[in-house]
Amino acid sequence: MPSAIPPARPGVLAALFDALPADCIRLGAEIGVRHHTDWTGMDPQCPLALLLPRSTEQVSTMLRICHAHSQPVVAQGGLTGLVGGAHARAHEIALSLERMDAIDPVDTSGGTVCVQAGAVLQAVQQAAEAAGFVCGLDIGARGSCTIGGNIATNAGGNRVIRYGMARDNVLGLQAVLADGTVVGSLNKLVKNNSGYDLKHLFIGSEGTLGVVTQAVLRLHPQSCSTQCAFLALPGLDAALQVLRDARASLGGTLSAFEVMWPSFYAFVTGLPGMDRPLAGTHGLYLLIEANGSDAGGDAGRFEAMLSRWLEQGLIVDACIAQSLADTARFWALRDAVAEFPVHLPKRSTFDVSFPLDGMAQAVHAIDAEAEAAWPGCTRLYFGHLGDNNLHIVIDVPATQGRHAPEIEAIVYRAVGALQGAVSAEHGIGRKKRQHLSVSRTEAEIATMRQLKAALDPRGILNPDKVL
Ligand code: ZN
Repeated sequence: MPSAIPPARPGVLAALFDALPADCIRLGAEIGVRHHTDWTGMDPQCPLALLLPRSTEQVSTMLRICHAHSQPVVAQGGLTGLVGGAHARAHEIALSLERMDAIDPVDTSGGTVCVQAGAVLQAVQQAAEAAGFVCGLDIGARGSCTIGGNIATNAGGNRVIRYGMARDNVLGLQAVLADGTVVGSLNKLVKNNSGYDLKHLFIGSEGTLGVVTQAVLRLHPQSCSTQCAFLALPGLDAALQVLRDARASLGGTLSAFEVMWPSFYAFVTGLPGMDRPLAGTHGLYLLIEANGSDAGGDAGRFEAMLSRWLEQGLIVDACIAQSLADTARFWALRDAVAEFPVHLPKRSTFDVSFPLDGMAQAVHAIDAEAEAAWPGCTRLYFGHLGDNNLHIVIDVPATQGRHAPEIEAIVYRAVGALQGAVSAEHGIGRKKRQHLSVSRTEAEIATMRQLKAALDPRGILNPDKVL
C-alpha cells in the first residue's frame, strides 16, 4: 500500500534555490502538465517542484539537498513508461534529465558511444547509424523516450531477439546515489570483471536505487540487407518450430519474430488505412525479419527457408516483402498497438512473459476465463515470441474498464501458475507493485529491500515504486 503522505519538508526549496541557478527549479504553473503524469495518464498531479539539471554535478547537489531534508524525488526521462514508474505525486519533487541530452562522437574503434541520460533514443540511433553502427535498443516510443529511462527500466522492444534488453547494451554507467554520491565508471571494456558490476544495480531499478546520468552503449555492426515476411501458421506449435529453425538457419541474423493471434490480426487489419497482407483466417500470424551482411545470398537463403517451412506444413501462406515499403506496411500492423488508446480507451493491457512450452496453455486459460466471464469481450494477443513476451489487451465493451481488477486476476493467475513474469519489459512502477510477489519469491523481495535500504536509507528515491 502507498505510504501516508508525509508532511511538507521545510526548507528544502529554499536550500535548492540557494545552491542552484534559479532556472534549474520550476514551481507550480511553471511546471508543464507533461510532468503531471506519464503515458499511463494515471492520477495527474503537479509535483512540489521540477528540477532541471544541466550536469551530473547539479544532479548530485540536488540529491544531496533532498537527502538532507528527506525529500522524496522522482527521476523522469521521456515519460513514456506504461506502469507509472516516473509518476510524481504532489509532495514529491520531479527530477527531469531532459537538459542532459549530449551524445559524444561514436568511438568507431570499439563501437561504443557515451551519452547523457536525457538523450532521446532516436537521436542516439541516428548518431550510431551516421557512424556506420546500429544501436541495439529500439522501442515504439523511440522519438520521445530517453536513454536514461531506457536504462532505468531495462527497456525491451522489437530488437531484443537480436541485441538483448537495455542491460545487454550498456557497457558503462554513471549514476548518482540518494545522498549525492556519484558512482560508476564510463567503462568501454567488454571484459571487465573487476569486482561487483554495479551498473546492473541501477539498470532496471526504475529510479529507486540511484539516478542514471550517463552511459556508454555498446553498438553493433550495421547490416546491409533486410528480409521480411508476413506469414500465416497453423498454430503456436508450428511457430515454436519455426523459431527454432530460423535461429539455426539464419546464422544469428534473426532480428524480429513478432507473433499475432487471429483476433489481433482481424482487429488491426480492420483499422482505417491498414493493409491485409494475407487473406483468410489462420491459426497464427508471424512477422519475421532478418538483417544480414550478405546482400547477394541473404534473400535466397531466406526464401529457401520459407519454402522449406511451406513444404513441411509449418506455414500455410506467406507474403514476402519486395521492398522497404512492404516491410513498413507489415510493421504498421504490429505498430498499430499505438492506436489502441484511441480505439479501446478503457482496455486492460498486459506485458507478461511465459515459458515457451507454457505459452499455448497460458493463452488458452486466459481466453477461456475471459470468455466465460464476459462473453464476446475483445481479447487481443500478440508479442515478441522469441523473448517469451506476450502482450494482451482485454476490453469489455460498455463497462468503462470497471472489470479491470478481475481481468488482472485472470491474467496474473495464469502467470503465477505457469512460472511467468508479471512484467516482461515495462517494469513494475506503481501499477504492478502489488503483483510483484507473483513472480518473485519472498527471499528475493527481502533482498531487494536490503539493497534499497543500503543505497537509499531515507527512502527518498521514487518511493512506493517497484517494492
Ligand atoms: Zn513489447
